[in-house]
Amino acid sequence: MLSDIEIAQSAELKPIAEIANQLEISADELDFYGKYKAKLSDELADRVKDNSDGKLILVTAINPTPAGEGKTTTSVGLGQAMAKIGKKAIIALREPSLGPVFGIKGGAAGGGYAQVLPMEDINLHFTGDMHAITAANNLCCAMLDNHIQQGNTLGIDPRRILFKRCLDMNDRALRNITIGLGGKVNGVPREDHFIITVASEVMAILCLANDISDLKERLGNILVAYTYSGEPVYAKDLKAAGAMTALLKDAIKPNLVQTLEGTPAIMHGGPFANIAHGCNSIRATKLALKLADYCITEAGFGSDLGAEKFLDIKCRYAGIAPSAIVIVATCRALKYNGGVPKSETSNENIEALKKGIVNLGVHIDNMRKYNVPVVVAINRFGTDTEEELKYIEEYCISKGADFALSDVFCNGGEGGIELANKVVEACEKPSAFEPLYSLDLTLKEKVEKIAKEIYGASKVIYTTAAEKAIKEVAALGGNKLPVCVAKTQYSLSDDPAKLGAPKDFEITVRDVTISNGAGFAVIYTGNIMTMPGLPKVPTAEKIDVDENGKISGLF
Ligand code: ADP
Ligand code: MG
Repeated sequence: MLSDIEIAQSAELKPIAEIANQLEISADELDFYGKYKAKLSDELADRVKDNSDGKLILVTAINPTPAGEGKTTTSVGLGQAMAKIGKKAIIALREPSLGPVFGIKGGAAGGGYAQVLPMEDINLHFTGDMHAITAANNLCCAMLDNHIQQGNTLGIDPRRILFKRCLDMNDRALRNITIGLGGKVNGVPREDHFIITVASEVMAILCLANDISDLKERLGNILVAYTYSGEPVYAKDLKAAGAMTALLKDAIKPNLVQTLEGTPAIMHGGPFANIAHGCNSIRATKLALKLADYCITEAGFGSDLGAEKFLDIKCRYAGIAPSAIVIVATCRALKYNGGVPKSETSNENIEALKKGIVNLGVHIDNMRKYNVPVVVAINRFGTDTEEELKYIEEYCISKGADFALSDVFCNGGEGGIELANKVVEACEKPSAFEPLYSLDLTLKEKVEKIAKEIYGASKVIYTTAAEKAIKEVAALGGNKLPVCVAKTQYSLSDDPAKLGAPKDFEITVRDVTISNGAGFAVIYTGNIMTMPGLPKVPTAEKIDVDENGKISGLF
């Protein structure tokens, strides 16, 4: 089979106006970024605002292996398959971060015959949203340091600055740095840090903002530092919100692209799924619901992280509800959950599969707690054996769960027809979506509910530092917010080595912070990497471009 980039480059793209036309969007309602990318204008959003909503389908997964289990691939393939069975569907996805493209992760635009195009653009600069977010974030930092330099009337304590600079690059050397060296004219020296752009609160805000006024208000509410007397300092105290919003005025508009089969796809925003909520923007999802009968969207990592946040944070803030949840499962991840090392997950191993299948069971049970119909998508890999696939199917039957074998990676939309039919049926079943917890609970009560009901923990314990932090966050009004738990994606617990369906374990909360602009409290259960590094042999070494501008080596 051809590589992802070879498949993508051999595809014939339709002009983006033609894709928009399928959705009855006129060229006037688009802001063109070349021939194959466009932003959807505010005029369009305004025109369709009273249309009835289509059905929302969330794609999530079991606990993944480090390679990812194919949520994006399945989302794209499902969208393509919907078109094959005559349904009007849009895919709404996160836009990829640039940094990881050069590391190990690989692209974030799907795979095989289920990809969004133009994949090189989408994985690299795209429409510049990431750069705009980087600029808005760093403007706030520059204004903060300038405020200190110019006399510090707010009394900002340089030892208690929370807001960090960002860059969309995997660059570990910038994690901890010293700035302002070189004497009086070059600033006030202090310790500073860089995070990757997608980890910036500005990204989370862009994805949760309903409109430009809401965006400005939320940016102003970012807690950036404390004063010497312990008072909070917000971005609005630095008078930064207006200019930050100006930098984001185009970035807030959703981007329209297409799949290999010409299905419309909106890609917009892409926050982390641990320290942030891990799904594309509210504006993109809401607009997709107005434009099509089905909107297929993805949340990061497994359902314990991404889907929980999608359901408890995003759906709550957006006032939307899914009609069906698709759980992507793979033989390799189930074997991994059964204790097989990553390097051996391609070999047939029914015993390990039988051991690891409990992981799928927990994810099915958890998603059912939200009162939304569930469909398991078995994402087929070339190395899967018939016996292994049959075992997963039998398990789904025993759980009374709808399922379909999906082969969209090799066959595009054709390979997802059974899945599409199952999903359409599921959308017609009764559903009564409700978030897992009420906002009236305290932060600790919310965390306990998620830890017990979703992770299966017996107890939550707090370090002394976390106890202190949670009081501080509560004093800033944090108790009324939803919680965003930062946890390993490899286990339902906070320990990546506890695979399958761990029981009788404790969750340890180590720190609590407030993303006051985004509107959630972040609960840290471990050290979360917010500035990745490059591996020993980065993908970047293999990426090249020829004299005609044709890129190679991008997966
Ligand atoms: P996720 O969104 O869950 O992280 P992706 O859809 O991005 O997962 O897939 C992760 C990687 O696995 C990608 O490189 C993709 O091309 C590849 N992949 C996904 N599904 C398959 C499959 N069925 N067979 C082979 N490779 C696949
Ligand atoms: Mg993905």
